[in-house]
Amino acid sequence: MKLSVIIPIYNESENVGPLYSELSEELKKLANKKTISSYEIIFVNDGSKDKTKNILEQLSKKDKKLKAINLRRNFGQTAALKAGFDNSLGDLIVTMDGDLQNDPKDIERLIEKIKQGYDVVSGWRYKRHDSFGKRLSSRIMNNLRQNLIGDYLHDYGCALKIYKKECLKDLELFGELHRYITAYLYIKGYKIGEIKVNHRQRKFGKTKYKFNRGLNGILDLMFLKYWSSFSNRPLHLFGRLGIYQWILAAIIVIEQIVKAYLVKELAFGPLLALASMLGITGLITIIFGFLFEITSRTYFRDENIYSIKEIYN
Ligand code: UDP
Ligand code: MG
Repeated sequence: MKLSVIIPIYNESENVGPLYSELSEELKKLANKKTISSYEIIFVNDGSKDKTKNILEQLSKKDKKLKAINLRRNFGQTAALKAGFDNSLGDLIVTMDGDLQNDPKDIERLIEKIKQGYDVVSGWRYKRHDSFGKRLSSRIMNNLRQNLIGDYLHDYGCALKIYKKECLKDLELFGELHRYITAYLYIKGYKIGEIKVNHRQRKFGKTKYKFNRGLNGILDLMFLKYWSSFSNRPLHLFGRLGIYQWILAAIIVIEQIVKAYLVKELAFGPLLALASMLGITGLITIIFGFLFEITSRTYFRDENIYSIKEIYN
């Protein structure tokens, strides 16, 4: 079994050297123990503006097992990961951060766990060394996600994960969706496991994410919920919403007519205004449903709406 380790890197000049030494030592150990047959380390330099590029170039000259991919500019962590996945040759793929917060020693346990029959195993930073704000927002998001998607993982944000190669074909990487890779795979029916992993303080460099991460995370989660439930039948969602609005409008109109009949006077008050608005927005919602249905059908012309695990024959 060949192992690929993928590390997206953006302005981590002080971290790449130590990380490379620590990681390659650990991987050599695993290869000697025959836990893996061979390995490759893929650093994806995501348009760093510091010395990261030069350091990687030097390292890759010395070590054939190190592949350094230079992106033309900073495309973001998700894109960097995808570039790594697309250029990896391993049967098992490990991802981790390039800031030394993940511990390479955990890779062995990730491999053990995936050999128990999982498709993906995610790390759980049960003792996190991050700021209070970051821990709090992660906790809120993890709870929200568990409720919406229905999985049980404790920690989605942990970059240290291991995948079987076959998962890659079902990965939909886009925007900042690296945070929800496991959720996508869960929705597609892959078996997801979890182990507790070590988490260390960031010693060098700065975190690349700020407040906006929270808002982006919530928007991505809303989309994920929509995508998991309605991607191949959006009309059912929007059509239903539109019809509910019409029903509400009809109830209001009937109530108003009965009332007008009883008091023998018809007045165009706020309720009737609401009813006419609901009539129009309901229609618009349904029209949107049709449009999304058409875009979904176009999308799924090239994509499968299922994922096959194996075929016996
Ligand atoms: N990263 C990247 N491109 C970016 C932002 C981040 O490749 O645009 C890398 C970064 O160098 C690090 C990993 O993604 O290796 C995680 O970033 P960071 O440690 O800043 O995130 P945090 O741990 O604070 O969530
Ligand atoms: Mg970090």
